[in-house]
Amino acid sequence: MLTRRKFLKKCRDISLLMCGSTLLTRSLAEGFMQLVKDPPPIAFIHAQNCMGCTTSMLYGNDYDFFDLLSHIGGLEVHPALSFSQGTTYIDNLKKIADQGNYLLVIEGSIPAKPREACYLGKDPLFNVLAGYAAKARMVISSGSCASHGGIPASGGNQTGALSVADYLKLQKVEVPQLLIPGCPAHPDHLMGSIAYIAATGKVPPLKKDSQLPAEYFNELLHNRCSRFQHFTQDMFVEDYAKDKDNCLLKKGCRGPITPSDCPVRRWNQRTSVCVESNTPCIGCMSPLWPFDSDLYLETSQVEDLPWSKMKEKVGNRR
Ligand code: SF4
Ligand code: SF4
Repeated sequence: MLTRRKFLKKCRDISLLMCGSTLLTRSLAEGFMQLVKDPPPIAFIHAQNCMGCTTSMLYGNDYDFFDLLSHIGGLEVHPALSFSQGTTYIDNLKKIADQGNYLLVIEGSIPAKPREACYLGKDPLFNVLAGYAAKARMVISSGSCASHGGIPASGGNQTGALSVADYLKLQKVEVPQLLIPGCPAHPDHLMGSIAYIAATGKVPPLKKDSQLPAEYFNELLHNRCSRFQHFTQDMFVEDYAKDKDNCLLKKGCRGPITPSDCPVRRWNQRTSVCVESNTPCIGCMSPLWPFDSDLYLETSQVEDLPWSKMKEKVGNRR
C-alpha cells in the first residue's frame, strides 16, 4: 500500500511526465482521490498481438502498473492479467461494456480477411469489436499493431489486418480515440495518458492532425537524441567497436523520421534506449513501421543526404 507521501510523489512524477513540470500534481492527486471512489473501468481486448505491449506495461519508469490501477482506474477485465479467464472474461467484458463510460484498450490489429484469424470468445473479433467500441468513452490503441497495423499488416498482410482506427471507420463507429504506437508501447505513454484522462476527464492534448498525445510524440526522436551533436558534426559510426558515441544514421537509424520522446524518457526504469545501446532506431513508433524494406535504412538511402532530404525520400508516406 502506498503512503500518502509516496502517492503524492507519484503524482508529481506523472505530472512531470505529462507536462514537463509539477503543475498538474495537485489536480492529478485530487482527480485520483475522487476516482478511488468511482474509478473509470478499464477493459483490455487482445486482437492479433504478441503480448509484448501487456508485458511492457508492467515496467513503467515512474509509475508502477499496479499503483496506477489502484489509484486511477479499475482494471475490470484483461485477457491475461485479470483472474477472470475464458467465458468469465467474456461475461465481465459484456457487463462492463453494457454499463458504458469505460476505457477500452485494444492491443493488436484486427483481421478482416479471413475474419476467423482472431476470435473473441465464440465470435470472430471483427464481428463483435465494433459493439464494444461503440459503448466505450474512449478507445485507446496500445502499440503499433493497434495504432497502425504493425507487423501483422506488413509484407503480404495475410490476414487483411487493419488498425483499430481503420476498422472503426469501416464499421462507422465514431468514438474518441487515442493512439499509443510502439513495438511495444512505452508503459509511460499508455499509463500517463490513462492518468491524464482519469484526472481531467479529457483527452490529452494531441499532436497536430493526429490522435497521438502531443506530450510524447510532438518531436522527432532525432532532435532529442544523445548522439545529435555528433550528427551535426558529420561524425558517423563506421565501426561499432571504435565509434561508440557517433551518430548511427549511416547504420540505418530511423530516428530522423520517428516521432517519440524515448531518448529522454528511456526504458526499463530509465536504464537505456536503443540509440544509447549502440543500436540504430528501427522506427517502431513510426506510422510506417515495420516499413516495406529492411529493418534498418539502406546506407544508400542516407549517405551524403542531409536529413531533411532523407525525410522527404523515406518519410511522410502515410
Ligand atoms: S540519426 Fe539516429 S543516432 Fe543519429 S542523431 Fe538521429 S536519432 Fe540519434
Ligand atoms: S529508439 Fe526507436 S526503435 Fe527504439 S523504442 Fe524508440 S522508437 Fe522504438
